[in-house]
Amino acid sequence: MGHKTMQAAVVRAFQQPLRIEELPVPVPGRHQILIQTEACGVCHTDLHAADGDWPVKPILPFAPGHEGVGKVVAVGDGVESFKIGDRAGIAWLYSACGECEWCITGWETLCPQAQYGGYSVNGAFAEYVVADARYAAHIPDGLTSVAAAPILCAGVTTYKGLKETETEPGEWVAIVGVGGLGHLAIQYAKAMGFQVIAVDVHDDKLALARELGVSLAINSTKDDPVKIVEREIGGAHGVLITAPSLPAFRQGIAMTRRRGTCVLVGLPPGEFPLPVFDVVLKRITVRGSLVGTRADMHEALALAACRGIAADVETEPLGEINNVFDRLRQGKIHGRVVLDFSHRALELVGCGVGSVGARTR
Ligand code: NAD
Ligand code: ZN
Ligand code: ZN
Repeated sequence: MGHKTMQAAVVRAFQQPLRIEELPVPVPGRHQILIQTEACGVCHTDLHAADGDWPVKPILPFAPGHEGVGKVVAVGDGVESFKIGDRAGIAWLYSACGECEWCITGWETLCPQAQYGGYSVNGAFAEYVVADARYAAHIPDGLTSVAAAPILCAGVTTYKGLKETETEPGEWVAIVGVGGLGHLAIQYAKAMGFQVIAVDVHDDKLALARELGVSLAINSTKDDPVKIVEREIGGAHGVLITAPSLPAFRQGIAMTRRRGTCVLVGLPPGEFPLPVFDVVLKRITVRGSLVGTRADMHEALALAACRGIAADVETEPLGEINNVFDRLRQGKIHGRVVLDFSHRALELVGCGVGSVGARTR
């Protein structure tokens, strides 16, 4: 296999910089494959994970990263669906039980036993990563590893979220938040035949939204998106909230058309008030949505390959992860940053102290 050790970006304490460490290359167990990472997107969820933002926290230490793509270099026992040399993706849905009421009805994302890549198990902010072959993604030949990486979370999450709005072709969807998720959401929405409105708080994100062909781009720090959407189209049939910011949630509900559906995918910690009167009298559906199933993943990757859906990618080496996180915190990333493993991480901050494993608490 060449290497016995690998570099990984490790969270040892919440809200502290990640450390680039030299760790043993993991060994794939039953049903597992070992992937030599070529690319891994940086999702805002990785930042929530490293900051310990959510009620269910990862157990320290752990390596984040759930948009990982690379070549299979070793397979464990019982692996049927991958062979050495295939490209595989490790995503947020790392594994599920396969037997519960959600697993057997095609809702494996909701499995109570599900493991999450880069959260409850180590992810792909590492030169090698283990994946469960039964849940890993097959990467279409038409996509480079750097191009495929953002589809593994940002792509599949927004594609599924758009389906969950139950909007019909020709109808309007509003995408609130034009970051990593949102700028892919716009492209999926267009491919699915919807008319698209974009809302963000930064003009450069709205410029990107216009380049991607939205009909209306609204900066909610300057104009009231609720008033504009009501005046221009009488409310959006579907709303997809990707912003990691609570005020956006209240606005998203208010932008939803009578009988429309507002889908929440952004995950800012906290709560927001739901206007009971409006939700009842307009018969609005408010729905959460979590990444996508293996079938959604297959569709999202296939659609990306055949329709040219692609993130606006900036590549960085693993050693830049803390700078990338700082920029993500400030809303200063345009599109998606993808860690490119063709160069090794720049600095070696700490040395390996045994294995890094993680589980949810
Ligand atoms: P990102 O930082 O790349 O993008 C966030 C965007 O929201 C930025 O463009 C920012 O300018 C914009 N924004 C911030 N405040 C806003 C506001 N008040 N109104 C409108 N726009 C606003 O983040 P990302 O990687 O796209 O992730 C976004 C969120 O989605 C995170 O909370 C992440 O954890 C969550 N997420 C959820 C799922 C899921 O399955 N539900 C999957 C992936 C990510
Ligand atoms: Zn993600
Ligand atoms: Zn299950």
